[in-house]
Amino acid sequence: MIVTINKRTPAAERERITTELRRQQNIVTEEIVGQNKIAYALLGDTARINPDLIEQISPFIEQVLRIEKPFKRASLEFRQGQPSEVTVSTPNGAVTFGQNHPLVIIAGPCSVENEEMIIDTARVVKAAGAQFLRGGAYKPRTSPYAFQGHGESALGLLAQAREATGLGIITEVMDTADVEQVAAVADILQIGARNMQNYPLLRKVGAKNKPVLLKRGLSATIEEWLMAAEYILDAGNPNVILCERGIRSFDSKYTRNTLDLSVVPVLRSLTHLPIVIDPSHATGKSEYVPTMAMAAIAAGTDSLMIEVHPNPAEAMSDGPQSLTLENFVRLMQEMMPLAQFCGRGSTLSLPTATTSKVSFLSKSRS
Ligand code: PEP
Ligand code: MN
Repeated sequence: MIVTINKRTPAAERERITTELRRQQNIVTEEIVGQNKIAYALLGDTARINPDLIEQISPFIEQVLRIEKPFKRASLEFRQGQPSEVTVSTPNGAVTFGQNHPLVIIAGPCSVENEEMIIDTARVVKAAGAQFLRGGAYKPRTSPYAFQGHGESALGLLAQAREATGLGIITEVMDTADVEQVAAVADILQIGARNMQNYPLLRKVGAKNKPVLLKRGLSATIEEWLMAAEYILDAGNPNVILCERGIRSFDSKYTRNTLDLSVVPVLRSLTHLPIVIDPSHATGKSEYVPTMAMAAIAAGTDSLMIEVHPNPAEAMSDGPQSLTLENFVRLMQEMMPLAQFCGRGSTLSLPTATTSKVSFLSKSRS
């Protein structure tokens, strides 16, 4: 339930309202200061509350609104329609995921394989304009016999790549026991599709003050996904970013998954949380990634996560969906004007840096 009051409500009256809400309703009250209004969120068992009684507490109370959705903190109503922003500090500066900010690019390999490949990839994606390097140290694999990630040593390589390029790091945490260790390196903790409903893990990352990228489960409904986000928000971490990475459908012959791009407008009508689209896992084939990346920008995504590998044919995981470094640079050159056109352009001028990095590529490879 949301109680909005006039922004000009005197401090003493605000204090009195919150005390009364707590006393009368015996429920958790949280203050949310919006652009034009101040609101109190009443959380917990609000079904028994009579809105008329709340309105009588103060003449400064303007509206008492019941949030009908099962996801309360994740709902758009919780922030009175205002999109939330997730700001991440990276060595290169603060980067904000949000509707009124430039498109954020996350790029890197599926797995961190060795020092040379991760540093090379980091340098190139940085020069091409990405703000974050992705790379798995702990990999959720369908087969127990497949490469499971280099674990702790890969985290060390990500830290080195961060140091070398200043890029923020995003990497997956699969186990509650690893949260501290992964959070020591990651600027954003990734919860993978297969762990979207791992509630102890959601609560654990929710108890940290590190931004969390929550991937949509392989067959999760939008509501289940938002309820998973609610676990993290309810545990005290407001910095949640949603990532659509394709869902299971009946055709797995020509695409790995089906990219549900309709989530962009649908989520906008339901939640204030920022959105990332991952066209790599969604399509499973590198040749389809550029088209779907462009479509995601046109649909209004806040960010893209793209898998990139110096030699996809030899990749230890997800090679078929990984762009080569050269193709990633080319895609960035194509995407940035579209982002600009959609009002999500970066203030940085990318082309010169990008060109010089293309020559870095040819030099390092000759
Ligand atoms: C990944 O990002 O490499 C990954 C394993 O993603 P997902 O959880 O979406 O399958
Ligand atoms: Mn992958």
